[in-house]
Amino acid sequence: MNFKELNLSKEVLDALKTCNYKHPTPIQEKIISQILKNKDVQAIAPTGSGKTAAFSLPIIDKLKKNLVDDFRLPRALILVPTRELAVQIDASIKKYAVHTDLKSATIFGGTKMEPQVNKLKKTIDILVATPGRLAEHIKEKNVNLLHINTLVLDEADTMLEMGFSEEMAVIFDSFATKPQTMLFSATLGESIKKLGEKILTSAFCVNVDKNQKETHRIVQSVYYINKEEKSSLVSYLIGKNYQQQFIVFTRTKQTAEEVFDYLLASGLKCDSLHGDKTHGKRQLAIQKFRDNEIQVLVATDITARGIDIKGLEYIINYDIPNSVDDYIHRIGRTGRAGLDGNAISLVSSSEIYSLKVIERKLHMKFVVVNEEGYGKDMIDVIKSPKINVKKEAKRIVTGAFGHNKPKTKTKKKITKRDGNPKVDKKPKNGDKVMVDGKVRTVKVKEKKPKKKIDSATFAKVKKSYLSSKR
Ligand code: AMP
Repeated sequence: MNFKELNLSKEVLDALKTCNYKHPTPIQEKIISQILKNKDVQAIAPTGSGKTAAFSLPIIDKLKKNLVDDFRLPRALILVPTRELAVQIDASIKKYAVHTDLKSATIFGGTKMEPQVNKLKKTIDILVATPGRLAEHIKEKNVNLLHINTLVLDEADTMLEMGFSEEMAVIFDSFATKPQTMLFSATLGESIKKLGEKILTSAFCVNVDKNQKETHRIVQSVYYINKEEKSSLVSYLIGKNYQQQFIVFTRTKQTAEEVFDYLLASGLKCDSLHGDKTHGKRQLAIQKFRDNEIQVLVATDITARGIDIKGLEYIINYDIPNSVDDYIHRIGRTGRAGLDGNAISLVSSSEIYSLKVIERKLHMKFVVVNEEGYGKDMIDVIKSPKINVKKEAKRIVTGAFGHNKPKTKTKKKITKRDGNPKVDKKPKNGDKVMVDGKVRTVKVKEKKPKKKIDSATFAKVKKSYLSSKR
């Protein structure tokens, strides 16, 4: 099939030529004509399947027909979970609508309200927004959504997971009539089903199941490894594929920063992406990665969701994600738009169970890598530190570009919870301390040394104990 058969306008087809899209992806083939017929749509389609174009192209086609007024209020609203995804979708829409006079804009949290208020006073045809900030603008009456006739909920599963249901309800209440609605999510859980029942009418349903159809392009492999050695292996794997770019995923912000510090110290060009960074810094890191100025992006799940980096061949799961959904989102950064990809998971002993759960839910077995000595035999090793010593010598962990260890060691950040070790020393016997405004002398109870027991006495005690049990 080609795009012409989908009844898209010349303006849109010309834009697609510039993008060098030759054929519609399966989701585009299935839903573009349905959206043009004003049908509601429910799609299980992960990022990477071409869903942004699948909903944007027909929306652009429909909205461009009615541009008589100079000032126009938003008619299409696209709700997304993260600001990164908002920026990305807006950029795609601008690309696809380049031959029309349509205007699109973004609204998201983490930045000042004022510039957004000014933005909302201008013409906007398509508004891309995160629910939290948009709900704030609605409450402060900065935005008028009465003309909305098309609504897209993108990555709806993530929006619900992030606890946006209340804000979404506020937003739905601000429409004058029920808009044509499209619900996209990577997974179909109970909460998505319930949301669909509430907001969709006779929806056209489609399932472009990433698990079965798309992930076959992604080689998913596993290294069994001790937790403490993971950074070193990451550095080694990146150094070994020095012409490729990598996204390294971690569950927490702190781990992301630690891994980032380690990789930087081992000589790799990298940046980190997590919720403690300002929007500007996060965008800059993504841009540097896109422009190939850096080789590695160390990111947490939420901040990297939906990010589209063309031709990215590798992702590394530094740790195993909490859910199958997160796993699917992570690996979806690679193997996009029909290209091949590699997803490498580093599994320590406490994560073997989570890995098995993911394998079971995805109905697949990951490839266990043996080449560097991190194969199946390591399952026993990582469970037992004693055998570890022997096996360790066999393995090649050199770090990027052959460095054995990073030059500078990552210092553990001292947080308030840790206290200040210089100040908060444990008081010793005889020290003076202040308690309730009074000076007191510390009395520490001396610990009695444990009695040593010789083997003859031990045997005697054991014997009498066992006979008392009989
Ligand atoms: P998405 O799932 O919308 O995040 O899109 C994933 C990637 O596929 C993006 O880089 C798009 O530019 C690209 N893409 C979307 N549709 C097509 C197509 N028909 N042909 C080639 N690439 C596409």
